[in-house]
Amino acid sequence: MNNSWRPRCIEGALGANLGAMARSIWKRYRWDRIALVTGLMGAGVCVLVAWVSPEKAEAEMVLAHPTAENRMEPAGALPASTPRVETAQEPQPETRPEPARDIKPCSCNSKVLNIPRNPYTAHQKSARNLPNSFFIKDKANLAWGQKVGKLVPVEDGRGYHIAPLSHSHKLLLPEARDVLKAMGNRFADELKGTDSEGARFRVSSMTRTDAQQDALSRRNYNAWGGQSTHSYGASFDIAFTDRPTDKVDCSAATRAIQKVLREFQEQGRVLIVPEGTCMHVTVRP
Ligand SMILES: [Zn+2]
Repeated sequence: MNNSWRPRCIEGALGANLGAMARSIWKRYRWDRIALVTGLMGAGVCVLVAWVSPEKAEAEMVLAHPTAENRMEPAGALPASTPRVETAQEPQPETRPEPARDIKPCSCNSKVLNIPRNPYTAHQKSARNLPNSFFIKDKANLAWGQKVGKLVPVEDGRGYHIAPLSHSHKLLLPEARDVLKAMGNRFADELKGTDSEGARFRVSSMTRTDAQQDALSRRNYNAWGGQSTHSYGASFDIAFTDRPTDKVDCSAATRAIQKVLREFQEQGRVLIVPEGTCMHVTVRP
Protein backbone atom coordinates (compact mmCIF):
# COMPACT_ATOMS: atom_id res chain seq x y z
CA MET A 1 0.00 0.00 0.00
CA ASN A 2 2.85 2.36 0.95
CA ASN A 3 4.87 1.38 -2.15
CA SER A 4 2.13 1.99 -4.45
CA TRP A 5 1.52 5.29 -2.84
CA ARG A 6 5.17 6.58 -2.67
CA PRO A 7 6.36 6.54 -6.31
CA ARG A 8 3.27 8.20 -7.37
CA CYS A 9 3.72 10.77 -4.65
CA ILE A 10 7.44 11.43 -5.57
CA GLU A 11 6.64 11.59 -9.19
CA GLY A 12 3.91 13.96 -8.49
CA ALA A 13 6.11 16.12 -6.25
CA LEU A 14 8.95 16.22 -8.77
CA GLY A 15 6.57 16.98 -11.57
CA ALA A 16 4.91 19.68 -9.55
CA ASN A 17 8.27 21.28 -8.62
CA LEU A 18 9.47 21.35 -12.20
CA GLY A 19 6.16 22.72 -13.41
CA ALA A 20 6.12 25.40 -10.74
CA MET A 21 9.67 26.51 -11.58
CA ALA A 22 8.84 26.75 -15.25
CA ARG A 23 5.69 28.71 -14.65
CA SER A 24 7.46 30.95 -12.17
CA ILE A 25 10.21 31.83 -14.65
CA TRP A 26 7.73 32.40 -17.42
CA LYS A 27 5.46 34.49 -15.23
CA ARG A 28 8.31 36.61 -13.87
CA TYR A 29 9.58 37.20 -17.35
CA ARG A 30 6.14 38.17 -18.58
CA TRP A 31 5.17 40.42 -15.67
CA ASP A 32 8.46 42.25 -15.85
CA ARG A 33 7.79 43.15 -19.43
CA ILE A 34 4.18 44.06 -18.83
CA ALA A 35 5.10 46.26 -15.90
CA LEU A 36 7.79 47.99 -17.91
CA VAL A 37 5.56 48.67 -20.91
CA THR A 38 2.63 49.80 -18.75
CA GLY A 39 4.85 52.08 -16.71
CA LEU A 40 6.30 53.71 -19.79
CA MET A 41 2.85 54.19 -21.33
CA GLY A 42 1.42 55.66 -18.13
CA ALA A 43 4.25 58.11 -17.77
CA GLY A 44 3.84 59.09 -21.40
CA VAL A 45 0.13 59.78 -21.00
CA CYS A 46 0.69 61.88 -17.85
CA VAL A 47 3.29 64.01 -19.58
CA LEU A 48 1.03 64.44 -22.59
CA VAL A 49 -2.05 65.52 -20.53
CA ALA A 50 -0.06 68.00 -18.47
CA TRP A 51 1.46 69.49 -21.55
CA VAL A 52 -1.66 69.70 -23.71
CA SER A 53 -4.35 70.95 -21.27
CA PRO A 54 -3.12 72.86 -18.23
CA GLU A 55 -5.93 75.48 -18.68
CA LYS A 56 -8.63 72.85 -18.56
CA ALA A 57 -7.43 71.43 -15.27
CA GLU A 58 -7.34 74.94 -13.82
CA ALA A 59 -10.84 75.72 -15.08
CA GLU A 60 -12.23 72.61 -13.44
CA MET A 61 -10.75 73.63 -10.11
CA VAL A 62 -12.37 77.09 -10.36
CA LEU A 63 -15.77 75.64 -11.20
CA ALA A 64 -15.60 73.19 -8.34
CA HIS A 65 -15.11 76.04 -5.91
CA PRO A 66 -18.39 77.46 -4.60
CA THR A 67 -18.55 81.13 -5.52
CA ALA A 68 -21.47 83.52 -5.89
CA GLU A 69 -21.33 83.08 -9.64
CA ASN A 70 -21.47 79.33 -9.90
CA ARG A 71 -23.16 78.27 -6.69
CA MET A 72 -25.91 75.73 -7.33
CA GLU A 73 -29.51 76.93 -7.04
CA PRO A 74 -31.67 74.88 -4.69
CA ALA A 75 -33.66 72.28 -6.57
CA GLY A 76 -36.83 73.67 -8.08
CA ALA A 77 -35.89 77.35 -7.69
CA LEU A 78 -36.11 79.54 -10.75
CA PRO A 79 -33.64 82.34 -11.45
CA ALA A 80 -35.25 85.69 -10.61
CA SER A 81 -35.13 86.79 -14.23
CA THR A 82 -37.01 83.81 -15.64
CA PRO A 83 -40.50 84.92 -16.72
CA ARG A 84 -43.26 82.77 -15.35
CA VAL A 85 -46.18 82.07 -17.60
CA GLU A 86 -49.54 82.26 -15.94
CA THR A 87 -51.70 79.33 -16.94
CA ALA A 88 -54.86 80.26 -15.06
CA GLN A 89 -56.46 83.52 -14.07
CA GLU A 90 -56.87 82.45 -10.48
CA PRO A 91 -53.80 82.38 -8.27
CA GLN A 92 -53.33 79.79 -5.57
CA PRO A 93 -56.22 79.40 -3.16
CA GLU A 94 -56.01 82.03 -0.52
CA THR A 95 -57.49 79.99 2.26
CA ARG A 96 -57.58 76.36 3.20
CA PRO A 97 -60.18 74.42 5.10
CA GLU A 98 -60.03 75.60 8.68
CA PRO A 99 -58.22 72.81 10.52
CA ALA A 100 -59.79 73.66 13.87
CA ARG A 101 -63.25 72.85 12.57
CA ASP A 102 -64.53 69.41 13.37
CA ILE A 103 -66.85 69.34 10.38
CA LYS A 104 -65.09 69.01 7.07
CA PRO A 105 -66.11 71.63 4.52
CA CYS A 106 -67.68 70.68 1.20
CA SER A 107 -65.76 71.58 -1.93
CA CYS A 108 -67.15 74.24 -4.20
CA ASN A 109 -65.12 74.13 -7.40
CA SER A 110 -65.11 72.97 -11.01
CA LYS A 111 -64.57 69.36 -9.95
CA VAL A 112 -67.84 69.07 -8.07
CA LEU A 113 -70.13 71.73 -9.60
CA ASN A 114 -71.48 71.75 -13.12
CA ILE A 115 -71.68 75.42 -14.06
CA PRO A 116 -71.04 77.00 -17.48
CA ARG A 117 -67.92 79.11 -17.73
CA ASN A 118 -68.17 82.74 -18.77
CA PRO A 119 -65.06 83.99 -20.59
CA TYR A 120 -62.73 85.99 -18.41
CA THR A 121 -62.76 88.88 -20.88
CA ALA A 122 -66.50 89.21 -20.17
CA HIS A 123 -65.71 89.34 -16.44
CA GLN A 124 -63.21 92.12 -17.06
CA LYS A 125 -65.67 94.09 -19.14
CA SER A 126 -68.36 93.77 -16.45
CA ALA A 127 -65.97 94.74 -13.69
CA ARG A 128 -65.02 97.94 -15.51
CA ASN A 129 -68.61 98.87 -16.29
CA LEU A 130 -70.14 98.63 -12.81
CA PRO A 131 -71.37 102.06 -11.62
CA ASN A 132 -68.86 102.49 -8.78
CA SER A 133 -66.04 100.62 -10.48
CA PHE A 134 -62.50 101.93 -10.44
CA PHE A 135 -59.11 100.29 -10.74
CA ILE A 136 -57.56 99.67 -7.32
CA LYS A 137 -53.89 99.94 -8.00
CA ASP A 138 -52.56 100.28 -4.46
CA LYS A 139 -53.37 100.99 -0.80
CA ALA A 140 -53.96 104.67 -1.50
CA ASN A 141 -56.68 103.75 -4.04
CA LEU A 142 -58.14 101.33 -1.51
CA ALA A 143 -58.33 104.03 1.18
CA TRP A 144 -59.82 106.54 -1.25
CA GLY A 145 -62.49 104.05 -2.36
CA GLN A 146 -63.59 103.49 1.23
CA LYS A 147 -63.62 107.22 1.95
CA VAL A 148 -65.92 108.03 -0.95
CA GLY A 149 -68.14 104.94 -0.45
CA LYS A 150 -67.16 103.16 -3.65
CA LEU A 151 -65.82 100.30 -1.54
CA VAL A 152 -67.89 99.04 1.39
CA PRO A 153 -66.99 96.64 4.20
CA VAL A 154 -68.42 93.12 3.96
CA GLU A 155 -69.18 91.06 7.07
CA ASP A 156 -70.62 87.59 7.59
CA GLY A 157 -74.28 87.43 6.66
CA ARG A 158 -77.17 85.03 6.30
CA GLY A 159 -76.15 82.01 4.22
CA TYR A 160 -72.49 82.99 3.89
CA HIS A 161 -69.41 83.74 5.92
CA ILE A 162 -65.99 85.10 5.14
CA ALA A 163 -62.85 83.05 5.63
CA PRO A 164 -59.81 84.73 7.20
CA LEU A 165 -58.29 86.59 4.24
CA SER A 166 -54.55 86.86 3.87
CA HIS A 167 -54.23 88.35 0.38
CA SER A 168 -57.37 90.42 -0.03
CA HIS A 169 -59.61 92.85 1.84
CA LYS A 170 -63.14 92.42 3.17
CA LEU A 171 -64.33 95.09 0.79
CA LEU A 172 -66.48 95.12 -2.34
CA LEU A 173 -68.25 97.61 -4.57
CA PRO A 174 -71.68 98.31 -3.02
CA GLU A 175 -73.40 96.57 -5.94
CA ALA A 176 -71.18 93.49 -5.54
CA ARG A 177 -71.84 93.39 -1.79
CA ASP A 178 -75.59 93.49 -2.48
CA VAL A 179 -75.39 90.56 -4.89
CA LEU A 180 -73.35 88.55 -2.37
CA LYS A 181 -76.01 89.21 0.29
CA ALA A 182 -78.80 88.22 -2.10
CA MET A 183 -76.92 85.06 -2.99
CA GLY A 184 -76.49 84.19 0.70
CA ASN A 185 -80.21 84.68 1.35
CA ARG A 186 -81.12 82.57 -1.65
CA PHE A 187 -78.77 79.79 -0.48
CA ALA A 188 -80.22 79.88 3.05
CA ASP A 189 -83.78 79.83 1.65
CA GLU A 190 -82.95 76.85 -0.52
CA LEU A 191 -81.95 74.79 2.53
CA LYS A 192 -84.59 76.11 4.91
CA GLY A 193 -86.60 73.31 6.52
CA THR A 194 -84.10 70.63 5.43
CA ASP A 195 -81.55 68.78 7.54
CA SER A 196 -78.89 71.05 6.04
CA GLU A 197 -80.56 74.29 7.16
CA GLY A 198 -77.93 76.66 8.52
CA ALA A 199 -75.26 75.69 6.00
CA ARG A 200 -73.25 78.66 4.74
CA PHE A 201 -71.02 79.13 1.73
CA ARG A 202 -67.53 80.39 2.41
CA VAL A 203 -66.13 83.47 0.65
CA SER A 204 -62.41 82.90 0.27
CA SER A 205 -61.33 86.03 -1.54
CA MET A 206 -62.56 89.54 -2.25
CA THR A 207 -60.87 92.78 -3.20
CA ARG A 208 -57.17 92.86 -3.95
CA THR A 209 -55.02 95.79 -4.94
CA ASP A 210 -53.16 95.31 -8.17
CA ALA A 211 -49.96 95.11 -6.11
CA GLN A 212 -51.45 92.28 -4.01
CA GLN A 213 -52.61 90.51 -7.13
CA ASP A 214 -49.13 90.71 -8.58
CA ALA A 215 -47.49 89.40 -5.42
CA LEU A 216 -50.00 86.58 -5.19
CA SER A 217 -49.86 85.28 -8.72
CA ARG A 218 -46.36 86.46 -9.74
CA ARG A 219 -47.97 86.69 -13.11
CA ASN A 220 -46.25 87.59 -16.28
CA TYR A 221 -48.41 90.60 -16.97
CA ASN A 222 -48.47 90.12 -20.72
CA ALA A 223 -49.23 86.40 -20.54
CA TRP A 224 -52.95 86.97 -20.32
CA GLY A 225 -53.11 90.76 -20.61
CA GLY A 226 -55.24 92.93 -18.36
CA GLN A 227 -56.15 93.28 -14.74
CA SER A 228 -57.82 90.94 -12.30
CA THR A 229 -61.49 91.66 -11.66
CA HIS A 230 -60.62 91.40 -7.95
CA SER A 231 -58.78 94.70 -8.43
CA TYR A 232 -62.10 96.41 -9.29
CA GLY A 233 -63.95 95.26 -6.18
CA ALA A 234 -66.30 93.41 -8.50
CA SER A 235 -65.46 89.78 -7.73
CA PHE A 236 -65.48 87.31 -4.89
CA ASP A 237 -64.53 83.63 -4.72
CA ILE A 238 -66.51 80.85 -3.11
CA ALA A 239 -64.29 77.90 -2.18
CA PHE A 240 -66.44 75.81 0.17
CA THR A 241 -69.81 75.32 1.74
CA ASP A 242 -69.94 74.54 5.44
CA ARG A 243 -72.52 72.14 6.84
CA PRO A 244 -74.31 73.02 10.09
CA THR A 245 -73.57 69.57 11.50
CA ASP A 246 -71.68 66.43 10.54
CA LYS A 247 -74.95 64.50 10.76
CA VAL A 248 -75.65 65.59 7.18
CA ASP A 249 -73.40 64.96 4.20
CA CYS A 250 -72.36 67.44 1.52
CA SER A 251 -74.98 66.56 -1.06
CA ALA A 252 -77.71 69.07 -0.11
CA ALA A 253 -75.34 72.01 0.37
CA THR A 254 -73.52 71.22 -2.88
CA ARG A 255 -76.78 70.94 -4.84
CA ALA A 256 -78.00 74.19 -3.30
CA ILE A 257 -74.90 76.24 -4.14
CA GLN A 258 -74.92 74.89 -7.68
CA LYS A 259 -78.58 75.81 -8.08
CA VAL A 260 -78.09 79.33 -6.69
CA LEU A 261 -74.99 80.03 -8.79
CA ARG A 262 -76.69 78.85 -11.97
CA GLU A 263 -79.79 80.85 -11.15
CA PHE A 264 -77.86 84.09 -10.65
CA GLN A 265 -75.85 83.38 -13.79
CA GLU A 266 -78.96 82.73 -15.89
CA GLN A 267 -80.65 85.84 -14.51
CA GLY A 268 -77.70 87.89 -15.76
CA ARG A 269 -76.66 89.00 -12.29
CA VAL A 270 -73.22 87.35 -12.21
CA LEU A 271 -70.56 85.82 -14.42
CA ILE A 272 -68.73 82.72 -13.24
CA VAL A 273 -65.41 81.04 -13.89
CA PRO A 274 -65.42 77.59 -12.29
CA GLU A 275 -61.85 77.04 -11.09
CA GLY A 276 -60.09 74.00 -9.71
CA THR A 277 -60.06 75.50 -6.21
CA CYS A 278 -63.08 77.79 -6.14
CA MET A 279 -65.86 79.51 -8.08
CA HIS A 280 -64.83 82.96 -9.28
CA VAL A 281 -67.89 85.19 -9.30
CA THR A 282 -68.06 88.65 -10.91
CA VAL A 283 -71.08 90.89 -10.54
CA ARG A 284 -72.65 92.29 -13.70
CA PRO A 285 -73.87 95.85 -14.22
ZN1 LIG B 1 -61.40 84.99 -8.08
